[in-house]
Amino acid sequence: MKKLILIIIISLCSCSEIEKAEDLISGLSPRQEYQKDENISDELFQIWKARVDVALENSLKIDLPYVEKGFFKPRNFAIYSYDTYLLPGEVIEIKINTESLSTLIFTTIYKKDNSSGVFEKLKTGAADKKELSFEVYEQGLYKIVIQPEIEANSPFQLEIKKSPSYLFPVINGKNSDIGSYWGDMREGGIRDHKGIDIFANKGTPVLAPTSGKITFSGEKGLGGKQVWLRDSKRKLDLYFAHLDSIIPKLKKVKPGDTLGFVGNTGNAKTTPPHLHFGIYKNRRGAIDPIGFVYQTEPAENAPADLKNLADRIKITKNKAALRNKAALNNSNIVKTGTNGEVLYVQGKTDDWYHVRDSLDRSMYIHESEVTPAL
Ligand SMILES: [Zn+2]
Repeated sequence: MKKLILIIIISLCSCSEIEKAEDLISGLSPRQEYQKDENISDELFQIWKARVDVALENSLKIDLPYVEKGFFKPRNFAIYSYDTYLLPGEVIEIKINTESLSTLIFTTIYKKDNSSGVFEKLKTGAADKKELSFEVYEQGLYKIVIQPEIEANSPFQLEIKKSPSYLFPVINGKNSDIGSYWGDMREGGIRDHKGIDIFANKGTPVLAPTSGKITFSGEKGLGGKQVWLRDSKRKLDLYFAHLDSIIPKLKKVKPGDTLGFVGNTGNAKTTPPHLHFGIYKNRRGAIDPIGFVYQTEPAENAPADLKNLADRIKITKNKAALRNKAALNNSNIVKTGTNGEVLYVQGKTDDWYHVRDSLDRSMYIHESEVTPAL
């Protein structure tokens, strides 16, 4: 049957499309497709592919945004893996720039399963595009694995950043206008805060953060004048409360449409005007909206200069800290290196080297503790 379909597809396709049709039917993974296209021996391919298992064992921690620069060298089998904690509503974007446009980069995102502790594959980016973007629906620990093709020979710059999937719901609002977060105590601890409060002057426009349908608007209960917006794409209900007034006859809205104006109606009568913004999932319960609207600043630190980046470096201190994160704070010392130990450079972020040791462990070491190895 498969052969018959193949013959039919081939007879319908132009020559350049035949290969694609074959791959569609054979169900090759992107890596297997690459092996076939480049005629890579099974032996070499297996060595390269097994690197993914090493990457899944390693666990470097990063905060976003993250920038790293380095060189991809042919047959050095470098693989890059980073763990980061993500919240619902955040969109993670991974992009690798190389000098040679034809270089293939395989990028995959995994999520740690809370019960089994195993990282499960979620999405793989197109190797020729060298990028991957992923919207987070569940909070948890995510792992990004980046692997260049075997013969990759190019400088690279890796950027991983995140952005909120919604527009900020108050016009010209910013993170610092959020005065109260999810879980803050209310009424002396009787109940938690099931949303965030965004403070603004009375009358400031409240905007639809995404497209959707208005399912309720009017005045009732603790929320006072309120609007409910159904985001059917994500199966979420958005709640806008304490409005001073509501735009009449709202039905369908697009991102940025005005829903109403900031006020202090309902149980906010004695507090300064603010928008209470809540998100409810499948009508079951509230979830933390912060990841949907929090704006992440662009990368602060100028990334490393590539000109003087050595392939190998040597420890110059009697005891050098090799860490799981490129920072002195909130990082663990994975290993204490000794004077003269040689490390292989994978890249550099700010003033930290991303290295691997002779046991194939990925770690960071501060540039003040090493010197290029000859
Ligand atoms: Zn509130």
